[in-house]
Amino acid sequence: QVVNYAPFTLLPSAVPRALFEQAYAVQQDFNLLVDAISQNKEFLEQTLASTIKVDDFTARLFRIYKQVLEEGLAQTVFLGINRSDYMFDCGLDGTAALRQIEINTIAASFGGLTSRTADVHGLVLKVLGRTEEASHLLPNNPAKGLALGIAKAWELYGSQRAVVMFLVEEIQRNIFDQRCVENELWNRNIRVIRKRFRDVFEQGSLDASRRLYMDGQEVAVVYYREGYVPQNYDQQNWEARLLLERSRAVKCPDIATQLAGTKKVQQELSRPGTLEKLLPGRPEAIARMRATFAGLYSLDEGEEGDRIAATAIADPDRFVLKPQREGGGNNLYGEELRQVLEKIKDSPERTSYILMDKIKPQPALNYLLRAHSPLQVSECISELGIFGVYVRQGQELVLNQAAGHLLRTKAIEHADGGVAAGVAVLDTPYLV
Ligand code: ADP
Ligand code: MG
Repeated sequence: QVVNYAPFTLLPSAVPRALFEQAYAVQQDFNLLVDAISQNKEFLEQTLASTIKVDDFTARLFRIYKQVLEEGLAQTVFLGINRSDYMFDCGLDGTAALRQIEINTIAASFGGLTSRTADVHGLVLKVLGRTEEASHLLPNNPAKGLALGIAKAWELYGSQRAVVMFLVEEIQRNIFDQRCVENELWNRNIRVIRKRFRDVFEQGSLDASRRLYMDGQEVAVVYYREGYVPQNYDQQNWEARLLLERSRAVKCPDIATQLAGTKKVQQELSRPGTLEKLLPGRPEAIARMRATFAGLYSLDEGEEGDRIAATAIADPDRFVLKPQREGGGNNLYGEELRQVLEKIKDSPERTSYILMDKIKPQPALNYLLRAHSPLQVSECISELGIFGVYVRQGQELVLNQAAGHLLRTKAIEHADGGVAAGVAVLDTPYLV
């Protein structure tokens, strides 16, 4: 067993205050939107129809989704924890605009560790004699915000003895991030257990009213920090997932909400009229969300897809090609984008990707501190994430909040990849 410090920047990075505030101001809207999509069977079915023909992972999730709907949901309390990620697109005139990269609706991480990064950067600034600047760093505690949502869901589930179950990976590389959230729950006298899919397969069961038990212990909330990539599943794990989804326990997220976070759904949201259909009577919320969208394009078979594929092949540096995957390191850029698109442009496989306008932020210098890596100054770009938490009981939304932020910074030579992928590091925004 080896423990390393989490990678971080030596110095906080400058973030435009107006864009930071804009990202916070739109978070409750995105919570509402994700929740609305998760309850809209027709939209999910239509949107994912082409994807599930070619993408086996999305298809398997979708099969479970359909199966639990047909049986009838036992779950009555819903908990969403998401993180909406943005980059600051630098226009020709030098002004920056907030552009959404994606919303993570499952296993959005680093809310725990980043609750400590402002303290680290505050100390560094003081050591450098910048006490005044240190005092400007914002407090930030997503761990507390996420725990508040989990605690609310636990309370509404309504069984004092029931536990919260963190569903964790087979090999756990980010346990301390999760412990920050876990400790907040223990502080509220809520019991937490950590289990893997394998444990659920071996010890999990449902009673007649589909209450979930692990070795005889009732589970109120299942918080997934696992289950978002195909490698997380073998046949037994799929069976365990189905058991969890069928149960009355509050899943964070339920499978519908996981599907709401797919790249294909994101691309369809940018189509004119889609947001209006999903959130009728909320024009202000829609305007706020749309103002953060980058150009997104369907590669479904047909004329629209043919046209944008040809444009991207001719000018690959304008775009990012994205498969239906999470976790970083899957997207294609530049020459590689061109080659792949050239190869699949006339095959159904094209449908398993979407295209997105490439965001081009203004780089800044910083030091990236990573265990066992040499120290050097790098040209860096940052990605801002805002955590969102909401709880719904039946049709009533009882909690809807922004729960804190995460700034991740990487060297510009890496087109892709987050902190877990070993590319980005934890940072703190210094508002300018
Ligand atoms: P994942 O689900 O794998 O995290 P993302 O959509 O977040 O997928 O993309 C991974 C990374 O790729 C992002 O963190 C960002 O650094 C980079 N990236 C994604 N989309 C764009 C884009 N449109 N422009 C520039 N970089 C992007
Ligand atoms: Mg991402």
